[in-house]
Amino acid sequence: MKIRDRYAPSPTGLQHIGGVRTALFNYLFAQSQGGAFILRLEDTDRTRFDAAFVQNLYDTFTWLGFRWDEGPDRGGPVGPYIQSERISLYQKHAQALVQQGLAYYCFCSAERLEALREEQAKNHAQETGYDRHCRTLSPDEGAARIAAGEKGVIRLKIPLGETTRFNDQLLGAIEWKNDAVTPDPVLLKSDGFPTYHLANVVDDHLMGISHVLRAQEWLPSTPLHVIMYRLFGWDHPVFCHLPMVMGQDGKKLSKRHGATSIDEFRRQGYLSEALINYVALLGASYQEGKDLYTLEELGARFSLDKLNKAPAVFDYQKLAWYNGQYIRMKSDAALAALALPYAVEAGLFGEPGTAPDPAQCETFTAAMVLIKERVSLLKEIPDKIRYLFADPPIPAPAEFIPKKLDLQRTRELLAIGRDMVEPLAALPDPEAEAFIKERAVQEGVKLGDLMMPLRVALTGSRVSPPLFGTIRLLGPARSLERLDRALATCRSVAFP
Ligand code: GLU
Ligand code: ZN
Repeated sequence: MKIRDRYAPSPTGLQHIGGVRTALFNYLFAQSQGGAFILRLEDTDRTRFDAAFVQNLYDTFTWLGFRWDEGPDRGGPVGPYIQSERISLYQKHAQALVQQGLAYYCFCSAERLEALREEQAKNHAQETGYDRHCRTLSPDEGAARIAAGEKGVIRLKIPLGETTRFNDQLLGAIEWKNDAVTPDPVLLKSDGFPTYHLANVVDDHLMGISHVLRAQEWLPSTPLHVIMYRLFGWDHPVFCHLPMVMGQDGKKLSKRHGATSIDEFRRQGYLSEALINYVALLGASYQEGKDLYTLEELGARFSLDKLNKAPAVFDYQKLAWYNGQYIRMKSDAALAALALPYAVEAGLFGEPGTAPDPAQCETFTAAMVLIKERVSLLKEIPDKIRYLFADPPIPAPAEFIPKKLDLQRTRELLAIGRDMVEPLAALPDPEAEAFIKERAVQEGVKLGDLMMPLRVALTGSRVSPPLFGTIRLLGPARSLERLDRALATCRSVAFP
């Protein structure tokens, strides 16, 4: 049997971690089995539909870099892959069930249903939902009333007094008394649109879906789906409900925990490789003592028995760690290209929005080696190297003073540092370090004490990217200029 699975989002919101996890697991499962991964748009909820969410879906997956084999944009043998283009199929299937007496027309008014709800609430009724009022209406009478222009819905006639059983690939045997399933749910609405349940079951069947991997919140719908498959006379696909994704407080992951939409992660400077790698581990374990996997490696390793039953906990710090790992793997040029939009927006090259000139571009790329080990998000990069593009404000004299030294000694060390700048700018790291170390020994100070005032003068801060690389990138002329200004500042105050 050829494995076919699918991601079936409803375009009613931005793509978020949970959806991407579902899509990714389906993609990886298909990859691992040589199967096909299908995208189907479940856009029948027209009140919540927004074309911007469809665009967001395509943008997100283009950015993440994994593709479906069949889908609205790619076509395929069982299209169309957009449910709103398949309405007549659902109508046909719902009517066929009515004809066989397995579903029925219901003409209950909204007022009647509302009154029913109120009464059930008032009586704290055990059984809630539709009271199966129209269940005995004959197919012919229903069809005649519809033909006469009356508005009605089609409801499923749930076989009562039976138990529905199915096997979930992850959760094992599940059984549900039919009487406890949503009472005779609507399949086709009065405007002729299907409900989620009808469209989902009909499409999974017509599209030859062999495996349904979806979020665990859909589990309560599955007994109903299994009943529908049976009434249609179809085999149902293998079901596998994926572990929940929680925040660290054990509640379902939501905006309260932090970013959840992929757009937001992207804006903060996460790399697609890091997101994919981290999300692939949300609810699955590969147990190889290895953290970093490419999409291909994941596809080769994925299997349903690697899924965990326990909920996955989304750890933002772990994701940031992954991101840092992937940032370090980038070449300087690749990292510069990824970080450039953040630098432009942060006004690194002039007013925010200003593109770099060729010299700035070169400095920016060369600066990547200085910060690669020191950031976990692309967004952090501009501020770390802003001092390379504009003179930083000169801090107050106290800022220059290394621990346990005084201002007078600091001035002397700064002057010594100033005289070392030219040779330092010409030396590679190891030689530069040897050179400055030797000088520190001669002066009887710690290496850090000689470097600190220099660092503050050149970068405006006591904490900065590596000093020697900074001096090389600034060049001797700009370095000397900053040191002279710093010396002037430090000399402008009287000794304490
Ligand atoms: N359209 C549903 C959703 O938004 C699909 C659920 C399923 O996979 O069956 O997630
Ligand atoms: Zn009714």
